[in-house]
Amino acid sequence: MQAVNSVITKDFRNIFEQYSWDEVAERIYSMDAGDVKRALEKEGNGTPEDFMALISPAAESMLEQMAQLSHRLTLKRFGKVLQMYIPMYLSNECQNICTYCGFSFDNKIARVTLNEEQILREVEVIKKFGYDHILLVSGEANQTVGTEYFEKMIRLIRPYFSNIMLEVQPLEQDEYELLINAGVNTVLVYQETYHEENYKLYHPKGKKSNFNYRLQTPDRLGNAGVHRMGLGALLGLEDWRVDSFFTALHLDYLEKNYWKTKYSISFPRLRPAVGCQQPNHPMSDKQLVQLICAYRIFNENVELSLSTRESPVFRNHAIKLGITSISAGSKTDPGGYAGELHALEQFEISDERSPESVAAMIASQGYEPVWKDWDRSF
Ligand code: SF4
Repeated sequence: MQAVNSVITKDFRNIFEQYSWDEVAERIYSMDAGDVKRALEKEGNGTPEDFMALISPAAESMLEQMAQLSHRLTLKRFGKVLQMYIPMYLSNECQNICTYCGFSFDNKIARVTLNEEQILREVEVIKKFGYDHILLVSGEANQTVGTEYFEKMIRLIRPYFSNIMLEVQPLEQDEYELLINAGVNTVLVYQETYHEENYKLYHPKGKKSNFNYRLQTPDRLGNAGVHRMGLGALLGLEDWRVDSFFTALHLDYLEKNYWKTKYSISFPRLRPAVGCQQPNHPMSDKQLVQLICAYRIFNENVELSLSTRESPVFRNHAIKLGITSISAGSKTDPGGYAGELHALEQFEISDERSPESVAAMIASQGYEPVWKDWDRSF
């Protein structure tokens, strides 16, 4: 039913089909130092082919040069500021089976969906931290946690936040329009992996197993006129280099087709969670640094976001490399801030510092933690 409703005038699928996973992998692994140098010279205005060079093994020996360029480009475009945001989990109900997630339908955990009163209690704690940007997260349970629920909750919390981000199941274009109208500013939708064949292994049951419906979600969002869109792959499922290339290709396509929308990229590395698989293709800290720098050198305008999945040490170093927004103090269970419900978390966080101490760390590096950067009325 959902797929039939889709109103897509343009479609990334057409671009996606021009590339094969194995050929992309071969090209990335055959890049040499000359390719990397040419990509570096593009200084923030690269093509997806340049991005291939930047994420290739050949670029590993030029990481210092990449880090310096990435730092310089980020300063030029974004200045010395870091946007602070915090996730709020609305529900852990989910009808999908995803092999890497604690909320997976086959996990026998207590299911919780916050009501209005519980949400306002969460908001109270979050506001005390100082936050003005919030990310609403839920599992995928369309009957109980669908558009109607989201719209109601967005209208409920809108007076407290100037920026509301949403990370929930893929929706239809008209549903996005409704939620944007209710106050949503940003929608995040991660493809998890662009490996179409293996995607089915990680998503064996539920609506999420429809690879194509997910792949076309950014198109529906673009057509709905969303202000900002977030993309990413779940790093660790498949070869991060190839998945990241497809993410960059997707970004490049979207920017050309929906040029009024702003874009952000996240780098979630697979984290431990109850009953979940370990990474098939682990990614080292050094490789994550390479990827962050590669995105910046490829695209000077894209916002780069880092979550509490990463360790304090990594995050302390990463803020100078190209990151523009960062979360702190996150709980990944519904009701986690008010602390009354004790539901199971989606995954273990790695940086457990308070928002205050993360803000102090940012300030100690000469950067300004920004809790609010714009007003709806502007
Ligand atoms: S990743 Fe999302 S859709 Fe999959 S089980 Fe977790 S909450 Fe559900």
